[in-house]
Amino acid sequence: MATTTIKAYGVTAATEDLKPLAIQRRAVEADDVKIDITYCGVCHSDIHTARDDWKGSTYPVVPGHEIIGRVTEVGNGVNNYKVGDLVGVGCMVDSCQTCSSCEQDLEQFCEKGATFTYNSPDKHNEGAQTYGGYATSVVVDEKFVLRIPENLDEAATAPLLCAGITTWSPLSHWKVKKGDKVGVIGLGGLGHMGVKFAHALGAHVVMITTSPEKGKDAKRLGADEVLVSKDADDMKKHQGSFDFILNTIPVGHEMDPYLGLLKIDATMVLVGAVEPLKPFHGGGLIGGRKRIAGSLIGGIKETQEMLDFCGKHNITSDIELIDMQDINTAFERVTANDVKYRFVIDMKSLK
Ligand code: NAP
Ligand code: ZN
Repeated sequence: MATTTIKAYGVTAATEDLKPLAIQRRAVEADDVKIDITYCGVCHSDIHTARDDWKGSTYPVVPGHEIIGRVTEVGNGVNNYKVGDLVGVGCMVDSCQTCSSCEQDLEQFCEKGATFTYNSPDKHNEGAQTYGGYATSVVVDEKFVLRIPENLDEAATAPLLCAGITTWSPLSHWKVKKGDKVGVIGLGGLGHMGVKFAHALGAHVVMITTSPEKGKDAKRLGADEVLVSKDADDMKKHQGSFDFILNTIPVGHEMDPYLGLLKIDATMVLVGAVEPLKPFHGGGLIGGRKRIAGSLIGGIKETQEMLDFCGKHNITSDIELIDMQDINTAFERVTANDVKYRFVIDMKSLK
């Protein structure tokens, strides 16, 4: 298969720093769009994968699934994009397109396994794996390319491709509406988008945080109230009052305190902790018919709907723009809970 060598950044082992790597991208096939990457967001999942937190990472890992760029080439079967278009690529680059999940626009749950943007077996190149957006360009099937509203700030749009859809999808699936009391746990990349979306949907938004110093920002982002989860009195005040909680904590944690916040029949959706949670008391769910659920990114159709909503309501991320060469510091700062509220790499620095 014809390939081109391009510049990227990645890790060759779980304990190594990220460093410059040369990787191969396939030549454009009939359904493909080639994208010159201008910006790429830094998701906590990039760190989990680079560090093999979830096990199953295959090295080298080139992370990056919040990709923004301009189309530079299209295959002869491409209908929806042309050279020069502003586009995005999120967490997936392929799926079977025929199973019942794919038919319901839920490619993230493809029964044959979705091809994720990095660290997935590459269907186009047997034996190889996918490499993400910490790179100068990418080649993607047009079905997995998103259209980016031109009125939005290009760099600040990158995080919508993962942090945006991952918070939008549960708010939409569980039908959060005007007047609902919605809690968002964790003011990081995902959480700050959760606050913006819940606010835009008309909910009464409560930022639930371990970091009291983030309270002022939470309100600027759209929270009506701030609840410091370490403050037992404050937690008690909000007991049994939430219609919906979006939980973005990236690690295993105590569940009981948060379950106590839910109303009867209310749901808490987990998106962060892909690892064992601390044991919790069944009574906390039974006494109130409460639910815990999970959610994984969102389908391609839903991602486009989210982007169009953002274009209409002028919603983007709050970002810190960095050069590719600063990525190791960015990883350390995200791990230390020190980012406002998403790092985005300016890919000019790699070219
Ligand atoms: P992030 O920017 O690091 O934000 C996580 C936030 O959680 C922190 O800012 C902090 O907020 C809070 N937090 C951190 N450690 C905590 C702890 N031990 N206990 C309580 N709160 C804690 O991460 P992110 O990029 O938003 O990602 C969050 C998680 O979602 C990651 O695990 C990521 O892999 C996962 N993820 C899942 C999906 C999906 O489809 N399900 C998609 C993307 C990412 P406060 O300071 O406000 O407490
Ligand atoms: Zn992500």
